[in-house]
Amino acid sequence: MVLLQISEPGLSSAPHQRRLAVGIDLGTTHSLVATVRSGVAETLADAQGQHLLPSVVRYQADAQPVVGHAAAEMLQQDPLNTVSSVKRLMGRGVEDVKGLGDVLPYKFEQTQSDMPRIKTVAGSVSPVEISADILRNLKQRAEQSLGDELNGAVITVPAYFDEAQRQATKDAARIAGINVLRLLSEPTAAAIAYGLDQNPEGVYAIYDLGGGTFDISILRLHQGVFEVLATGGDSALGGDDLDHVIAEWIMLQDGIELAQDLCLQRRLLKLARDIKETLSHADSTEWTLERPQGGEWRGSLDRETLGELIAPVIKKTMLPCRRTLRDAGLNASDIQGVVLVGGSTRIPLVRRMVSDFFGQSPLDDIDPDKVVAMGAALQADILAGNQSGRDLLLLDVIPLSLGIEIMGGMVEKIIPRNSTIPTSRAQTFTTFKDGQIALSLHVLQGERELVSDCRSLAHFELRGIPPMVAGAARIQVTFQVDADGLLAVKAREEASGVESKVEVKPSYGLSDQEVETMLRDAIEHAGDDVAARNLREQRVDADRSIEALRSALAQDGEDLLELAEREQIETRVQELVTLRDGEDPLAIKRAIGVLNDATQEFAARRMDAGIHQALAGHRIDEFKD
Ligand code: ADP
Ligand code: MG
Repeated sequence: MVLLQISEPGLSSAPHQRRLAVGIDLGTTHSLVATVRSGVAETLADAQGQHLLPSVVRYQADAQPVVGHAAAEMLQQDPLNTVSSVKRLMGRGVEDVKGLGDVLPYKFEQTQSDMPRIKTVAGSVSPVEISADILRNLKQRAEQSLGDELNGAVITVPAYFDEAQRQATKDAARIAGINVLRLLSEPTAAAIAYGLDQNPEGVYAIYDLGGGTFDISILRLHQGVFEVLATGGDSALGGDDLDHVIAEWIMLQDGIELAQDLCLQRRLLKLARDIKETLSHADSTEWTLERPQGGEWRGSLDRETLGELIAPVIKKTMLPCRRTLRDAGLNASDIQGVVLVGGSTRIPLVRRMVSDFFGQSPLDDIDPDKVVAMGAALQADILAGNQSGRDLLLLDVIPLSLGIEIMGGMVEKIIPRNSTIPTSRAQTFTTFKDGQIALSLHVLQGERELVSDCRSLAHFELRGIPPMVAGAARIQVTFQVDADGLLAVKAREEASGVESKVEVKPSYGLSDQEVETMLRDAIEHAGDDVAARNLREQRVDADRSIEALRSALAQDGEDLLELAEREQIETRVQELVTLRDGEDPLAIKRAIGVLNDATQEFAARRMDAGIHQALAGHRIDEFKD
């Protein structure tokens, strides 16, 4: 009998090749990898059955780096070669980490490059390479447990990550040999894990309290598309702070002197963390702690007392919640669902405060440690083409406005802060001087009006502009931010078609703290900025008038003006030049007006002369139609 291969209608005859795609949560404290099996997202465990991989890497002299639990255990013994919380250094420049030198235990190498490098026994390593070691470990875990080669990954990043931090994350993946299907913001991933993308519409809050950071994001789902309306948080607030509060309380209770002894301090912190985690599911707990001099301390704590201790720390998360809602132009009652993310949201008091603030019980049935990785896995599965017919377009926002420098040291914003991405916007500019054949463009990020108050991202030049009179060239500048949040800027002169572009890959980024500081500055200095802008605008106008008049005088001054007339105009120009350097925008404006009046006659003569010249050698009837 002949066996026929029968293919089902609608399916191709070749066996369906599933492409192995994973979601990776590259966290500050822990990292995870997840995938979709039989339509369900699940995190993958290592050989010991552990799902959470501590984001810690230890470098050794003659061996491969160790990643995860084994490295975390060596943090105290080998602090110089064991790196934790590297996420905080991603996308930062040498200048950015200089200030951290005293806080971090590592030694930074003195380098010429923009990227900081940490000295270890295995040579110096950059934050990107350290993250790559973590990613490589997760890639191996995925390939081992799924028995196939990895096709691609969706990697999550905080919603506020800027250009440099996103680029650094992508670079780390490339070094680890991972094909990045997309970078996805952590809150969006959490919303997807809860299937909120299946709802018709809605506004959601994602409350993420991890080990060392707090993030709050407001998302809007509209026609199947997530848009991050606003983000906020505190980059130095998390479970670690609770551990410290508890450790201090134990010292007070047990009459322990402020522990000079580093080893005792570490034991105390570890104990505090255990107590905290136990009291998330138990009503009370007891412990004993060995005294360094022998003997032991006994102690106990109940959940209520713990609550009193940690409430002030947890309350601190409410301020960014309020501010972020305000940024999004919403009230707590506008929020349709609240998602809990991060290990610290297991604490019952956190849940209670969050539900009081938003006036509703938060969504919490998915493990808050794993929810981000699971959402990323769902997205990866779609992007790898494993769920035919499903397409999800995810939008994020850019955290700070993007713009270019214009005359007078000011910033013209092209893409405003909180614009959803991907996005593309263009604006037309012109030349300032007659015969200008090159234009230098300076790309900036920030909310303030002055270049000196914003962050410089890139410089590039547009050359080959045909010589024209000032103001005649039309130069279109286009800013394009892709789905991963990376910026490309293009400048094009319309008449000649010459163009030039840069992909903005800054070598350093902004921390969320800096973003916040810059925002606060922008609000506080809004008044100063308007005045400063006004002054600069008047100066630019003055420069333009002076420049135009000088060029006209050089061309036609001799031929068209009497000496006395010429001297009078030059006096007016001189007056304007002097006022231009002063601080009074109104005086500059008036002087420009006076100069304009004084030169009316000259301008009229020039026009006549121009017409004469144009007509010279032609018979008048040539111009009749
Ligand atoms: P990150 O996003 O910064 O990598 P995680 O989301 O993994 O961090 O959260 C780690 C924090 O969660 C730690 O401070 C840890 O003590 C805390 N945590 C984990 N489980 C519990 C629990 N059961 N109760 C209270 N805190 C917990
Ligand atoms: Mg996290």
